[in-house]
Amino acid sequence: MSRSAVDFIRKNILEMAGYVPGEQPQEAGYVKLNTNENPYPPSPAVGDAIVEVLRRGLQKYPDPLATVFRVEAAKLLGVEPDWILTGNGSDDILTIVTRAFVGEGDYIRLAYPSYILYRVLSQLQNGAWEEVFFQGDWTLTNDFLASNPRLKLIFLANPNSPSGTMIPPAVISRWIEQLPCPILIDEAYVDFAAESCVDLVKLSDRVMVSRSLSKSYALAGLRFGYLVAQPHIIEQLRKVKDSYNCDALSIAGATAAIRDQNWLLETTRKVIRTRERMTEELRALGFDVVPSQANFVWCTRKDRPVKPIYEELKRRKVLVRYMDYPGWGDGLRISVGTDSEVDCLLERLQEVLSTDGK
Ligand SMILES: *Cc1c(COP(=O)(O)O)cnc(C)c1O
Repeated sequence: MSRSAVDFIRKNILEMAGYVPGEQPQEAGYVKLNTNENPYPPSPAVGDAIVEVLRRGLQKYPDPLATVFRVEAAKLLGVEPDWILTGNGSDDILTIVTRAFVGEGDYIRLAYPSYILYRVLSQLQNGAWEEVFFQGDWTLTNDFLASNPRLKLIFLANPNSPSGTMIPPAVISRWIEQLPCPILIDEAYVDFAAESCVDLVKLSDRVMVSRSLSKSYALAGLRFGYLVAQPHIIEQLRKVKDSYNCDALSIAGATAAIRDQNWLLETTRKVIRTRERMTEELRALGFDVVPSQANFVWCTRKDRPVKPIYEELKRRKVLVRYMDYPGWGDGLRISVGTDSEVDCLLERLQEVLSTDGK
């Protein structure tokens, strides 16, 4: 009897659980506030650019380095195009960086609770991870900078998920001297925040910043993200990426999107305005809500468990994200929708809360 192909799969893959993304119900009719998508459509220029590529045809390979995008993004960020690496979503960027820095038996360091994907990426490399807990006020102690000879990479989502809180760039800039290894600052939500760490990349080649077009640019379905790092780091990372990791449609769409900064400004303003109202109203309903710098809010409460609230909301076709972090606690992460979606959420919540936690 020959052995099953499964027996040839690496042990670390067999033993790991794999990342589980938030629910993406395929039926219509849900108010979907569980995966931090933008409730507004992208700039109309995105569709036009994609249609134009289709008209010209898809028979040729795309530019492997997405140079039109890099030129545009570089102008915006005040760097040169060779400081930028593009990816098939920022998850692809996180994969490329992990594959480049983390080998078997190496460690990554994470803040906890944060984006669960980071540890999965390390597991794929047969690497390990260590977690430094956020303080109660969502700050980090100097433990986050402690040295460890096997430590190869630090991940920091900033703003963080699920909290929506941010470590100020001024604080991170003071970390640079003490960094025991490179740090990847994941700025998937930064366009909803007041500040960014992108300028810190110029101060040290140990600082890398990733960005996503999925949330603030309303292009989660297109898949486009990028990394900002010093050119000699980008040069190494290019060896690790797939040759054509960004397709012709996404390159054209993403380029049109970042060219339309007015659209970005107007949309993020609307989301931020709704976020502030949502925070107030959720507090009035008895939730503890952390002030957020992202397009979602983290809600906990002391008087009753939140999991039944998630379930009852789902029964009423309102989808939020229930998160349970062992050793930390659970809560609801609720994305900022349109004003009418948020009104619907608040109405359904009122119903659920008045049925006495059953
Ligand atoms: C959504 C998200 C990403 C991934 O974004 P994509 O560009 O859609 O791959 C990365 N990091 C964090 C913290 C996120 O929430």
